[in-house]
Amino acid sequence: MAYFCKDCSYRGKTSGQGGQCPACGSFNIAAERIATEQPEGPPRWHKIALVTSWSVLLVTIVWKLIN
Ligand SMILES: [Zn+2]
Repeated sequence: MAYFCKDCSYRGKTSGQGGQCPACGSFNIAAERIATEQPEGPPRWHKIALVTSWSVLLVTIVWKLIN
């Protein structure tokens, strides 16, 4: 989480007292997410593809066992 002041374009990890901008004292400060701090997991299709390939493998093994 980082703070971004819309008035003086201050950007930092902390906000001032009461959510004020520590640089200019403005309340026009917004909390923003840094993309690198919370990396997203693998894409959803990756998980689906993994589950599908494992299912196919299991079905193939079971199929060969019964036949
Ligand atoms: Zn500011």
